[in-house]
Amino acid sequence: MVDRTKHLLLCSSLETEIQRQGSNRQEDNAVIKLCQEALTNIKRIQVHPIYSGHSLFLGFPNPSMICYMNASLQSLLTLKGFVEDITSQGEVLALCPEAQLMRCFLNIVRCHNSADARLKLEAVMRFKRVLSVQAPEFEHGGMKDAHEFLTAVLDQIRNLVIPLTETAASMGSSYSCPVQRHLLFTMQNTRTCKGCGVQSRREEDFTMLSLDLIPGGSVQDMLHIHQMERELEFRCQCGGNTSILESRLLALPKYLILHLKRFKFTENLVMVKLEDPIILCREMTVTAHQGDQLYSLISVISHVGSSVRKGHYVSNGLHPDHTLEDGEDRWLHFNDIFVFETSGAMVSEWSTEDSYVLIYQRRAWPALV
Ligand SMILES: [Zn+2]
Repeated sequence: MVDRTKHLLLCSSLETEIQRQGSNRQEDNAVIKLCQEALTNIKRIQVHPIYSGHSLFLGFPNPSMICYMNASLQSLLTLKGFVEDITSQGEVLALCPEAQLMRCFLNIVRCHNSADARLKLEAVMRFKRVLSVQAPEFEHGGMKDAHEFLTAVLDQIRNLVIPLTETAASMGSSYSCPVQRHLLFTMQNTRTCKGCGVQSRREEDFTMLSLDLIPGGSVQDMLHIHQMERELEFRCQCGGNTSILESRLLALPKYLILHLKRFKFTENLVMVKLEDPIILCREMTVTAHQGDQLYSLISVISHVGSSVRKGHYVSNGLHPDHTLEDGEDRWLHFNDIFVFETSGAMVSEWSTEDSYVLIYQRRAWPALV
């Protein structure tokens, strides 16, 4: 009975999404088929709607194709340290005129658990309007890319460091940027000429890492290949044409966001989606200059559908009542206004073909017994 209720809710949500996006062409029919297949998979999962406690109201309404935004926001809200850094600095945010986007995010945090859907919709749409001032691609309706949305949000928060630091200083306080503190990492690229051995080195900061998809491969494999040495064409002063490029992580963040490149251009410049299954590691070791670190999966954004402009985004995240350390495998599945309880084991099992953005949290190595 519980499964049936959940299935009907999901059907209703996805079908509404499909209707909004039109369903006349062959491509749309393929999306419908994929959604139906996804629903069949979801139906098999033993999850329970949450009828009690605060979790009931954690969803966000979706009247106009904003599932990409709802799913992304739910994943950001799963990052407790990130959210706490914003909520604890509300006074600085309130006094800095430039920090409107972060005040809007704070509003979303404050009404996350509200039963007032209209209030939540206003908060989410205001956030979208403010973000669109510097990222006009999100101004109008229509399906957008959740990875591009997340990138825009994090970049804009990061760009507020100077005005917020100045505002905090004028209050006799200090400001800690939640993106710099919890998400930012540095990648060092070293190019070595194969002819003369001359090296050039460049360091760049990122808020997320985009990985080439390896069909059937694990997230750990993709990360490993990203850091492997590779050859590239480069004309050196010595006359050599080939260099070796090595990328390595210098410092690792608390929350590591990985974007799987499922959307790719073909030779004819047509955007296609790669739906190959992957192995969604729940735990993995990440190698960096500072040494190996252990990471655990805490959130997954999935895209169901065959193209970037069609389909539906959902999100899964560690239950807010739990931490990685307490060992409880309780997660929540967010599908716009609908929120269901699930587990990390189930998410990693059934998100293998549609997982798109993964968030891992650094954790301590288990103590040796
Ligand atoms: Zn050379």
